[in-house]
Formats: sequence, structure tokens, C-alpha cells
Amino acid sequence: MFLKRLDVAGFKSFADKISVDFVQGMTAVVGPNGSGKSNITDSIRWVLGEQSARSLRGAKMEDVIFAGSDTRKALNVAEVTLTLENSEQFLPIDYHEVSITRRVFRSGESEFFINNQHCRLKDIIDLFMDSGLGRESFSIIGQGRVEEVLSSKSDERRKIFEEAAGVLKYKLRKKKAELK
Ligand code: ATP
Ligand code: MG
Repeated sequence: MFLKRLDVAGFKSFADKISVDFVQGMTAVVGPNGSGKSNITDSIRWVLGEQSARSLRGAKMEDVIFAGSDTRKALNVAEVTLTLENSEQFLPIDYHEVSITRRVFRSGESEFFINNQHCRLKDIIDLFMDSGLGRESFSIIGQGRVEEVLSSKSDERRKIFEEAAGVLKYKLRKKKAELK
């Protein structure tokens, strides 16, 4: 499985639609300070279901929508689609290519899609759970995160290993079952 393509429109600094085609191997994004490099990784975490505006460096979820500039009006909707190659069925879904779309309107309304079919946020989170790619995973290490991992308490560090080892899913299910 690998990331094939990222389409971003109206998300943060990307007022116009941009598409990134990832090739197999390593892709580096370079640019001056403030040019939107981190906004690209934010868009990936967002489409994978990130719900914390703060961890996306905003105050509220609306802050992910293009807020306007000197020359352009603010937009009312942000949309991100991430396409993954899945011919080995690494993600538990019967498609060789999987696209995940998230859309948010300034009114606060959100929409989620898997291969253009309406779905719930939970479906996306479940799909990526244990893939090592989900919103809580450590496949995206943000600025400052390395120090956070090194300095966190032992039970926080344990969570990191549990996610990496794929046992977090079962722990969450157990917790849910106990609440019922
Ligand atoms: P650095 O090298 O400093 O880490 P970077 O390339 O990672 O920079 P980002 O943090 O991705 O830069 O981009 C920051 C820019 O995104 C800022 O100019 C900020 O104004 C802009 N930005 C963030 N949210 C929005 C929004 N909702 N609407 C318009 N612009 C936004
Ligand atoms: Mg940055």
C-alpha cells in the first residue's frame, strides 16, 4: 500500500485546487517558511479523521477553510481526497484503489466518503485502524512531536507502543464493550 495522490481544495492556504502525485519511494516537499508545507501534512491528518482543531494548529474546525487573503475572498468549503494503492488489500476493503474524502462547510456541516460513497467518520477511522496510518498513528510525526515522545510519561509511551503493535484497537473495543 502506498499514497498515490492527494487532492486539496479550499483547505488552509490552498484556495485553488492542488494535486500531489506521490511516486513510490520518497517524496520531499520543500518551500520557504509559511508556504504551506505543514498544511499538506495537516490535510492528510484531517482527511484521515483528525478531530482536534488544535492539533491542526487552529482554534476551531472552521479554521481549516481558506480564510481569504488580500486578493481573494474567503471560501465556504474545504475538501481533501487521499488516494491509496491497495492492491494487496492492506486496508480491509475489496478495492485495489481506495480514496477517502472529507469535506467541511463553514456552517459546520461535514461529509465523509470512501470511494465516493457517503460514509461516517467512524468508517474511515475503522478502515485505517491498525494500518499504522490512522489519525492517532505515528506515521506522521509533527514538529515538536519527537521531544513529546521522549519526554512523555511511561503510560503515555506505552500507548505509542500499543498503537505501533496493533493492540490499541482491541483495547478500545474492550473499553466500548464494558461501557455497554
Ligand atoms: P515552516 O517552514 O515555517 O514550517 P510551512 O511551509 O510549514 O512553514 P505552513 O505552516 O504550512 O507553512 O503554512 C502557514 C501559512 O498557511 C500561513 O501563511 C497561514 O496564514 C496560512 N494559513 C493557515 N490557515 C489558513 C486559512 N484557513 N486560510 C488561509 N491561509 C491559511
Ligand atoms: Mg511547517
